Amino acid sequence: MKKYDLAVIGGGFAGVAAALAAARGGADVIIIEKSNALGGAANICLVNPFMPYKTKIDGKEVALSAGIFREIHERLEARGAMRGETFLEEELKYVMSEMVAEAGVSLLYHAYIFKSHKDGDRITAVSVATKQGEVVIEADYFIDATGDAQLAFLSDCPTILGRESDNLCQPMTLCFRVGNADVEKFYASKPKLAEAHKKALEAGELINPRENVLVFKTPIHNVLHFNTTRVVKKNPTDPADVTEAELLARRQVYEIYEFMKKHADGLENSFLMMTAAEIGVRESRMIVGDYVLTEADCRAFTKFEDGIAACNYDIDIHNPEGSGTSHYYFPEGEFYTIPYRSLIPTGVTNMLVAGRCISSDHGAQASYRIMPTVCCIGEAAGSAMALAIKDSLPVREVNTDTLRATLKANGAFID
Ligand SMILES: Cc1cc2nc3c(=O)[nH]c(=O)nc-3n(C[C@H](O)[C@H](O)[C@H](O)COP(=O)(O)OP(=O)(O)OC[C@H]3O[C@@H](n4cnc5c(N)ncnc54)[C@H](O)[C@@H]3O)c2cc1C
Repeated sequence: MKKYDLAVIGGGFAGVAAALAAARGGADVIIIEKSNALGGAANICLVNPFMPYKTKIDGKEVALSAGIFREIHERLEARGAMRGETFLEEELKYVMSEMVAEAGVSLLYHAYIFKSHKDGDRITAVSVATKQGEVVIEADYFIDATGDAQLAFLSDCPTILGRESDNLCQPMTLCFRVGNADVEKFYASKPKLAEAHKKALEAGELINPRENVLVFKTPIHNVLHFNTTRVVKKNPTDPADVTEAELLARRQVYEIYEFMKKHADGLENSFLMMTAAEIGVRESRMIVGDYVLTEADCRAFTKFEDGIAACNYDIDIHNPEGSGTSHYYFPEGEFYTIPYRSLIPTGVTNMLVAGRCISSDHGAQASYRIMPTVCCIGEAAGSAMALAIKDSLPVREVNTDTLRATLKANGAFID
């Protein structure tokens, strides 16, 4: 296989935005993805909708996630694939693959990276598992957009797992959809359902510890989306734990669906339409990079000199041990930025990390992990790579003033 300027591992929001930004900046880019389409968790784990990314500054509404995220949003809207901030993931897969094709990005699907080849502090290639066995892909630069900091881990870059005190991660959730529902009737009966759910939980009748039923409307008028199973105290990077998590979550899906059929209205003619292809992982490994973004930074609304993306999504921590979800909501008009240094892993000179696994603590990750923000982090990583490639620079030597100016010129919001 030919050698690329840049190999992006993972085709979620972060990876797609990274690849687009780098290719538009002149780089020859490949996305290596283990599944069969782009979109990452939105597609594989049925994650929906886009969580809030707007605020009001001087009375004016400002989208803190703009740039490539806005382009994707607009293309979805133009295709009638949005309802509020919920979207049709089938359309997302199509929109993203058209966008990367237009930018000339190469794709390799059904390819799972499992080895990093290094020469000193440079990564030279990755090995992927395919139906033909091992395939080696060489590149000058790499972006780890796997969500799990997989390439960083394989390259012996330091990483942490979950929260600092005990390494527990936010719970995993298997999302599911219910079809042929009377959505308005269901929503009208939510107080009744909540009451019954509270009682059943208190009586110890449910295996799912989540404190309430989390449901969203979808662009399809008779389909409900549920993000409500909760598997705690499992390590998302351990295949044995993840297998147990998938099995337990599936039992939780049937448990809550049967429960809702008894205690809510509007599900009389419904059916369990689909569960996600994979259980969703909110949090797993994060790199320990040049700067560790902290919850304290977020709560102080810190604007970094090398800030490359902005966020005000609440610090939304689903209890890693059981029931309860804690929130810290940012006041209107306030936000923090994410420094470029948090994308730089320790120990290598030609890789950046983008997405939900950048260098941060558990509390900060609970905020910036949402799809709009990771898309902007990806755009910044890709734009930085285009600059590094142009002058054959180590990633640490990219001029962050130039990077920020490039992002702004391309429509991103930073500060
Ligand atoms: C249950 C759940 C609910 C959530 N709810 C919301 C919500 O309502 N709104 C919101 O905005 N955000 C939500 N989030 C957060 C958000 O979905 C994720 O944090 C975000 O999608 C992460 O994007 P990413 O690009 O970093 O990683 P991902 O989307 O996970 O993409 C990583 C990609 O890398 C690929 N990959 C991984 N390992 C390998 C490998 N070894 N080789 C090749 N490819 C690999 C994967 O297949 C995947 O396509 C939720 C997350 C979960 C799990």
